Amino acid sequence: MVDIPDCKTLRLVLGDQLNRQHPWFESSDPDVLYLVAELPQESTYVRHHVQKIAAFFAAMQAFASDLEERGHRVLHLTLDETAEFDDLPGLLDFITEQAGAEQVEYQRPDEYRLVKQLSTWARQAELTVTCCRSHHFLLPFADIEQAFPDDKSQRMEHFYRRMRRRFDILMEKDGKPAGGQWNFDPENRKRLPDDVEVPDALVFDNPIKPILQRLGDHGIKTLGHSDAESLPWPIDRRQSLQLLDYFVDCLLPRFGDYQDALSGRHWALFHSRLSFSLNTKMLSPEEVIRRATDAWGDDPDSIPLSSVEGFVRQILGWREFMRGIYWSRMPGYAALNQLEHERPLPEFYWTGETRMNCMSQAINQSLDHAYAHHIQRLMVTGNFALLAGVDPDRVDQWYLGIYIDAIEWVEMPNTRGMSQFADGGIIASKPYVSSGNYIKRMGDHCKSCHYKVSARSGDRSCPFNSLYWHFMQRHRDWQESNARVGMIYRNWDRMGSSRQNAILQTADDYLQNIDSL
Ligand code: FAD
Ligand code: SF4
Repeated sequence: MVDIPDCKTLRLVLGDQLNRQHPWFESSDPDVLYLVAELPQESTYVRHHVQKIAAFFAAMQAFASDLEERGHRVLHLTLDETAEFDDLPGLLDFITEQAGAEQVEYQRPDEYRLVKQLSTWARQAELTVTCCRSHHFLLPFADIEQAFPDDKSQRMEHFYRRMRRRFDILMEKDGKPAGGQWNFDPENRKRLPDDVEVPDALVFDNPIKPILQRLGDHGIKTLGHSDAESLPWPIDRRQSLQLLDYFVDCLLPRFGDYQDALSGRHWALFHSRLSFSLNTKMLSPEEVIRRATDAWGDDPDSIPLSSVEGFVRQILGWREFMRGIYWSRMPGYAALNQLEHERPLPEFYWTGETRMNCMSQAINQSLDHAYAHHIQRLMVTGNFALLAGVDPDRVDQWYLGIYIDAIEWVEMPNTRGMSQFADGGIIASKPYVSSGNYIKRMGDHCKSCHYKVSARSGDRSCPFNSLYWHFMQRHRDWQESNARVGMIYRNWDRMGSSRQNAILQTADDYLQNIDSL
């Protein structure tokens, strides 16, 4: 172990608390020592994508160096120094004792697991332990209880409108929404035409060889295809701001149009890829929103309002909403499995080896880049898992491990709630399921697929088609009364029993041989 310098106050900075603008860092204090530590427990609570761990560790290292350059005292520990400690409390006990610290301060973690661990430790620690705000989200933590009463199903749209008014974002002076509409969803659902050029993704070239070496030395098991020695993701505030500028200048004008598009031509389309910078707090949600709305205000002719509103909705609406759901419903939320789904996750989620072109594309790019955009996560991989009845615990583990931005507070409500309907409708008013038709309409995968999207049953029929009807049949009892779903059952009933039987038989065959699809 390295020498531990003396300090009166030890301040813990977790890997997703790289907020350079936090009041802690306004001035330096020689009595304060900041601890930034690579932790075995954080590297192994799920099997992570190699780029995800490397990005967190590289960003923590860059943050520690930045603090030092600004005159703060920092103890940056790598796995080489922390490997001997079973968990974070063990490390804190050791360091506080060695440093002779009188108090420890930490920012409130965003994950239930860490809040519990640190508050339990604080109760039995023999020094003063203080928890403070992380100064990141727009909605103060203290307001969550009131904004998310647990006796009601929540709807994002209502929450989002309240947030627009409260923070005066895209609002006219008379209290009406900019452009007279709250929602431009119908304009934001276009398929990507062949002649629209998608700019290259802005990628960085951050060296990570020593980090990969450490992961190997300490036996940390990872997933993902890439073992490249450089990391394309932003690892500090400067690079994060560069990515934000690139998004606003080059991608935002078409973000709205193609935010729901699927395409084999490009892995990120017009999406911002800002989720890692946001979730590690290198960028604040408010500054990202303001940057987009200011660009629109400066030049409304070059950026459609539908694009800006669509983007703001993701951050001010969905992101804050998911956090509210998580904190108002944990810890019970993590165990919800309303549809009683139990199937193991098919092996091809880990290998990308499937003949379903849309799935192969979404999974392989996730393994390659630790990234898939929202519609790939929701309407391709999530849709398939839900149709097939996969156990939400296994689905959660996959999403939590594979994506660069996956942190439980945002991953779980998206996966278990929005995508798998395991919360029984707290987030979504009905399950997000679709047949192959939706994937065909939104993208270009079907034309070169092994399966036929036009066929509902029989050899080589698109698995999404028969599984869709199988799902609808399995869950008819409780779904039929939902006005938005009832019509679908009228269509099914009109099909006649021989076609219905053929479809259900195909689905059964596919489910029995799911790993070879
Ligand atoms: P953009 O499309 O450019 O959107 C801009 C920003 O809006 C994102 O960076 C993100 O911060 C925010 N945002 C958009 N949609 C959501 C949403 N539904 N919930 C919360 N924030 C949103 N997002 C994560 O940050 N971490 C996760 O672990 C995660 N897991 C998901 C799992 C499933 C099954 C699904 C369906 C969605 C998940 N999302 C998650 C939400 C969303 O898919 C990602 O935020 C988005 O794809 C990140 O890419 P981007 O930065 O290019 O997003
Ligand atoms: Fe996906 Fe079906 Fe289209 Fe193939 S045919 S790409 S499996 S939706």
